[in-house]
Amino acid sequence: MNLSPVKILIIDSDSDFSESLKESLLQQDPYEITMIRTGKEAIDQAFNELPDVVLLATHLPDMDGYSILDLLKSAQTTHEIPVLLMSSENASTERIVQGLEMGAVDYIIRPVHNAEFCARIKVAIRNYRIQKSLREKAVTDTLTGLYNRSILEYRMQTELKRSQRHGIPISAVMLDIDHFKKINDSFGHLFGDQVLKTLGEILLRRARTDDIIVRYGGEEFLLLLFGADLQGSYAFAERVRIDFQSKIFYVNGQTVHFTLSAGVAQFSAAMSSSQFIDTADKALYVAKNSGRNRVCVDETTAQDQAS
Ligand code: GH3
Ligand code: MG
Ligand code: MG
Repeated sequence: MNLSPVKILIIDSDSDFSESLKESLLQQDPYEITMIRTGKEAIDQAFNELPDVVLLATHLPDMDGYSILDLLKSAQTTHEIPVLLMSSENASTERIVQGLEMGAVDYIIRPVHNAEFCARIKVAIRNYRIQKSLREKAVTDTLTGLYNRSILEYRMQTELKRSQRHGIPISAVMLDIDHFKKINDSFGHLFGDQVLKTLGEILLRRARTDDIIVRYGGEEFLLLLFGADLQGSYAFAERVRIDFQSKIFYVNGQTVHFTLSAGVAQFSAAMSSSQFIDTADKALYVAKNSGRNRVCVDETTAQDQAS
């Protein structure tokens, strides 16, 4: 559960109004409230601080509130933050509809009683939290707490584009536990689950915070490593392989250990996202067929890199 205070960003040049709203809000909950008077400053604040809710005046001294709304709704990091538009004039129906169609969750026409405004803000926060937690549940694997495969639908394309735009390499590591069926058969499914959890912990420990770790299938894991070229991701997979191999498990009064195989590929502009994963998967297949307990690198990207 997220116990940090809800961050509210109020963007309005009328500081008397902002102050009085802030006071009413703070009487209800310990919100963290920031008040900004100009559009330019507001954009910086929104992108750096990622508030939980934005109250945005349609008219600002330097900008139109609609263009700020548009910016927030078109950026990946901010597009889900609820924005309540507020207008101090008699807004036309067209403008209200336009704001809501652009993605605002509410449109408040002032003057409005602070109690009503606060209640509307609370509704926006409540809906946002429900949505966020449903989305998190939908992309989380319950056994390991890692992402499940569906995260790739949300993140893969944007991350590949981001890496291309900034010229940062991105690599995929596909890992699969060796003879996992035997582990289940010999020691039971619950013990098998324990082994999966342990590998998940090793991956979390070894990966960087912005890497994406996915439980791809039963005992298969996919990692997207940012800033890692083929050499870097190979070294990463080797460390994981050795960590896992060295981990001693106790079961039925005996000590056992297991191994894994991995395939590594680096993304190149000529690949589609599924070709990228396929490439790592093929390298994994080579690792399996050449004796297991090893990391193999996709030969084609390795050659491209060498040339
Ligand atoms: P290989 O070395 O070729 O990878 O052999 P393997 O036995 O690991 O490969 P295979 O893919 O045939 O077997 C995977 C097994 O993983 C089969 C399935 O019963 C088991 N499995 C899949 N999901 C889970 C899970 O959530 N928990 C447990 N305990 N086992 C699982
Ligand atoms: Mg396996
Ligand atoms: Mg498998």
